[in-house]
Amino acid sequence: MHPWISQRANSFDSSGIRRVFDLAAKLKDPINLSIGQPDFDVPDEVKQAAIEAIETGKNAYSPTQGIGPLREAMRSKVLADYPTHTDRDVFISSGTSGGLLLSMLAMVNPGDEVIFLDPFFVMYPALVQMCGGVPVPVDSYPDFRLNVAKIEAAITEKTKVILVNSPANPTGVTATADEMKAVAQLAADRGIALVSDEIYRHFFYDDQFVSPAQFNDQTIVIDGFSKSHAMTGWRVGFVHGPSELMNAMLKLQQYSFVCAPQPAQWGALRALEVSLSGHLADYQRKRDLVYDGLSDVYEVVKPGGAFYLFPKAPIASGAAFVEKAISRGLLIIPGNIFSHRDSHFRISFAAPDETLHQGIELLRTLATE
Ligand code: PMP
Repeated sequence: MHPWISQRANSFDSSGIRRVFDLAAKLKDPINLSIGQPDFDVPDEVKQAAIEAIETGKNAYSPTQGIGPLREAMRSKVLADYPTHTDRDVFISSGTSGGLLLSMLAMVNPGDEVIFLDPFFVMYPALVQMCGGVPVPVDSYPDFRLNVAKIEAAITEKTKVILVNSPANPTGVTATADEMKAVAQLAADRGIALVSDEIYRHFFYDDQFVSPAQFNDQTIVIDGFSKSHAMTGWRVGFVHGPSELMNAMLKLQQYSFVCAPQPAQWGALRALEVSLSGHLADYQRKRDLVYDGLSDVYEVVKPGGAFYLFPKAPIASGAAFVEKAISRGLLIIPGNIFSHRDSHFRISFAAPDETLHQGIELLRTLATE
């Protein structure tokens, strides 16, 4: 290990995901079901708005909190959703990831514990550790539901934050209103901060999306345009929550990210006017296609949202199964990247139908080999 590398940088590793990418790089024309972003492109109007912004000289820093029109538009939306939350403020972050990092930096002291479900989005444990906190993953197998009793059992006097993610990456599981309400009330009763990562909010197929902010006015909501408008490379997110906390996060943003890229923010402003219903209907159809194609041969929970399925591998090790799949040209992600268990794997259905059909066919063969 290089002597200059900090304990912080050493406190987590990314070798699991790198190993998959290394294996993938060797494949010529893989059946790629590993992608964590939509397979549609940024809407044309959004591209045009960003081009116009660049051409008309909107290339400088924006205010730390975001360009006025976008922040105001987001504030109106948020206040319409939460009319009783008089203390709720909004700012534009550098992606959802930027918002998540700032939320942890703003709240987590060394030794503080942050609870989230296992399986989890890969970044969560690393983010907590970067801030000197202690990740507390709560095992949610086999149904991956947001179970308030399991969360309550993980609370200690050190618990600072409960971090929820519905629809979830990597399982696609969505929380019901009752589940969200129970967790939101638990956090409020215990004086624990509640952070809600709502990046897949629009990808909700069977019911209505429910935010814990509906039941707990102190909830910190982190969201962004990456998935909803296929803008992962543009780095525009937004955060809303109690104004004092937003100010603390803005102070940290000022001295780190500075702002979200200004031309991309003008694009995001236009994105607010673009309807996503066509894509969403398409993704629901893709969800059904893949679930129906695999559920008789794999143990798999039907995802209510996002664009992932998290089936159980037919052999003991998910990682060994994924290596076998990759050797046959199918790119999927081993579950142990998102979990302390190594029994499952992640499929993304954000892919063309032809790729999905090829993937289903190969996975059906692999299930019985
Ligand atoms: N949260 C979750 C659950 C995600 O899956 C992702 C992206 N994979 C992010 C946050 C980060 O999104 P962004 O591109 O907005 O930083």
